[in-house]
Amino acid sequence: MTAADPNSKLTVALLFGQPGVGKGTQGEVLGRIPGLVHLATGDMFRGLDRDSELGQEFLKYSSQGLLVPDELTCRLWKQYVQGLIDTNAYRPQMDLLLLDGIPRSLGQAQTLDQHIDVLQVVHLVCSEEDRLVGRIQRRAEKQGRHDDADESVIRRRLNVYEEETRPVLNHYDASIVEDVDATGLPMQVTQRVLNTLIPAVENRLANPLGA
Ligand code: ADP
Repeated sequence: MTAADPNSKLTVALLFGQPGVGKGTQGEVLGRIPGLVHLATGDMFRGLDRDSELGQEFLKYSSQGLLVPDELTCRLWKQYVQGLIDTNAYRPQMDLLLLDGIPRSLGQAQTLDQHIDVLQVVHLVCSEEDRLVGRIQRRAEKQGRHDDADESVIRRRLNVYEEETRPVLNHYDASIVEDVDATGLPMQVTQRVLNTLIPAVENRLANPLGA
């Protein structure tokens, strides 16, 4: 998919964790760091025109707390990444792509294997589910998100995470999966995330692929 070499895989890190754990907050900050490009599939979907066929398809699932089907998600993701490459917003040879919200199912993980080389999986962890629900509800008020207004939809999303998304963690070698405590000040969480990402990037720079 890359502009330079269609056969080479994109080097990525995955930002992983339950809804409300703070992926969005962390992703936004991390995406401002030179050399890191943040791609959140939730933002990608919300950026669709609501009146378009795809926008309606997204709403149909997200308003119920369900995942958008794998085929559509992966197809849109590929187009979106290609758009970032074409506009130079993401330079695969120089930037680390930080994927937030994808893969969210084993099917997606298998499809993405053809396109990505996962350097590190950052698993943000918060053990108190009630705290997550509270965070999501406050965010819904601030951002007017339709999928987060209703507690039953939030609980459904947390269930979908347990059933479909958490198993994705086992798809990757345990040596590249790191649990990161998502509690505390946002800047403390950022520091912890960087503490896992920086050594992984340094290690890769010292041992580039194919060297
Ligand atoms: P949160 O960060 O609160 O978990 P997102 O903003 O990432 O939520 O996603 C919002 C909604 O977008 C999801 O509930 C789901 O319907 C849809 N979505 C996002 N990413 C994916 C994905 N990889 N596969 C399927 N659906 C997705």
